Amino acid sequence: MGSDCLFCRIVAGEIPATVVRETATTLAFRDIDPKAPVHVLVIPKEHYADVATLGQGDPALAGELLATAAAVAEDEGLLGDGFRLMFNTGAYGGQEVFHVHAHVLGGAPLGPMLC
Ligand code: IMP
Repeated sequence: MGSDCLFCRIVAGEIPATVVRETATTLAFRDIDPKAPVHVLVIPKEHYADVATLGQGDPALAGELLATAAAVAEDEGLLGDGFRLMFNTGAYGGQEVFHVHAHVLGGAPLGPMLC
């Protein structure tokens, strides 16, 4: 997608981000407005608008995204107490950035819904 997409611009290095993990196909960076003590976003480097488009268009890449999210959770020490992994999807889902991203949230007990 490129210059119109905030997260494509992060992938391109045009906008700074605090990167915590990178693979050939995915990038994980800290949310700029964290909703929990740990709040990391995990994205595919390739542009897909949302998780439905990604899951139908490239299931293997969706699996790589989940693997990166799990590795981030392990790196952040979240596997013992647990964490939340969520994809806001579309207008009713509250999605604000239309480049698919998994929210990895943890580090404290979470309420029924955070973002
Ligand atoms: P959404 O509502 O699921 O689309 O979540 C978008 C998330 O992106 C929000 O949690 C924002 O705080 C986060 N965000 C927006 N801009 C940036 C940025 O430049 N760097 C890191 N996170 C961002």
